[in-house]
Amino acid sequence: MNKFNNKCSVEKSDQLGRYVVSVQDIDEGETILTEKPILIFPVFGDETQRCCQCFKETGDICKSCAKFPICASCGPHNDFECQILQKLEKMPRKLNNVFGVIRCLVEMENDEFSEVFNTMEAHQSERRGTAIWKIHHNTTVDPLLGTNIKSLIKNAEVDSDLLQRICGVFVVNSFDIKVPDGVGCLRSLFPNAALLAHDCVANTIVSIDDNFQMKIYANRDIKSGELVTYCYTNPLWGTSKRRESLLVGKYFHCMCKRCEDSSELGSHMSSILCPSCPDGSLIQRNSNWRCVECNTIEDPSEIEELVTDAELSLTESEGNLRLLETTLRRYSKVLHKNHHVLVELKQDISAILRNLINDPTFNPNVELLQRKAQLCGEILDVLKIVQPGISVMKGIALYEFALPTSDIGRMNFDSGKITKDELKRILEKTQKDLKEAARMLSYEPLDSSEGQLARNIAMDLKELQEEIKDIRSW
Ligand SMILES: [Zn+2]
Ligand SMILES: [Zn+2]
Ligand SMILES: [Zn+2]
Ligand SMILES: [Zn+2]
Repeated sequence: MNKFNNKCSVEKSDQLGRYVVSVQDIDEGETILTEKPILIFPVFGDETQRCCQCFKETGDICKSCAKFPICASCGPHNDFECQILQKLEKMPRKLNNVFGVIRCLVEMENDEFSEVFNTMEAHQSERRGTAIWKIHHNTTVDPLLGTNIKSLIKNAEVDSDLLQRICGVFVVNSFDIKVPDGVGCLRSLFPNAALLAHDCVANTIVSIDDNFQMKIYANRDIKSGELVTYCYTNPLWGTSKRRESLLVGKYFHCMCKRCEDSSELGSHMSSILCPSCPDGSLIQRNSNWRCVECNTIEDPSEIEELVTDAELSLTESEGNLRLLETTLRRYSKVLHKNHHVLVELKQDISAILRNLINDPTFNPNVELLQRKAQLCGEILDVLKIVQPGISVMKGIALYEFALPTSDIGRMNFDSGKITKDELKRILEKTQKDLKEAARMLSYEPLDSSEGQLARNIAMDLKELQEEIKDIRSW
């Protein structure tokens, strides 16, 4: 039995490196892999002092080695690690810049770990001399070479090449994990999950529960022989930003169906409204921006400037509801309604409205609820294209669309604007949407915030069912 429960095999090619292919038909929602991380570490540059076991914030430090932080409830850390750290001299001041690398070197003293780690891709030659290479040199490699770590590690030759390779493996392969307390994230290595090839419209979902256990499941039916893929980047970014982040962080140029299609599968997440005709959109083909209706051509540098301005306005509006709405109105006149900058603005506004609606001291009016439902509906329209099949984002958006919609129905009924039958129809539609939202989230691990949300939706559904039954009996 291999790590993929014999449902997949690991293959190798010059173009893709190692990759995973299904060897049997896999159903939507079916689990493909569960895996524990071989390494967890704080993000480089993060200033928070975190326990080396549970990664919660702590002010305590191991009394034996006085090097790694450890909280009172976790007890001692690994004895072998502690002993090496006891002999470590000239410990760099910024622990989080070196923590992952030190722990990795200590783990490499174990042959089994070393063997797995050595198979992981670091893209050493592509990285050499780049900006990120220099940053790693200054923040991690150089400070560590200033210690006596070389003399403490027996299984490997600790030099700048090895340290850079470890940094490279971290950059190329690590997955984000939510910190166990508060906001922010940690990085982690899952060697089997890292074998999945990338696709901007992937066929799996990766989720990590509160115990750092990973689960990968199919978001749609996967046929035997299909490539099993995962999306390494943000699917709500436009093609040029996704491609750039993949090139800079993962060292490849994405050629997936979505990236190769100028309209992004018809989602138009990078399209600009045509200035010369009423219904046309400008899409980029090669380096030209051309209207799909009237063939008007626009200067690429002007489009680039427009999108840069929109992104800047978005950043400047962050957290301010009124500014966000103004920016959205302004750029809705020139960008396609699904443009990624508009989608991000809508998400930001929606998040502020969510906080207002959830505030027990605030009484949202119909207009506010309508705005919330409208924005979530528009975000959903985009997600349906770029995240077909099961999608956590779609489940959450549908949930956030359904709740205000039902509240608006109740308010309108109370003020005599709609009849009992109309209210019943609205609530029945809400019931259908909530069931679909619950289904989208039902594959998430129970010990995760998404799993908790699925349980909350189940409770909302129960109440709604009672409410509909009551209305029928009036
Ligand atoms: Zn702890
Ligand atoms: Zn210690
Ligand atoms: Zn792509
Ligand atoms: Zn046109």
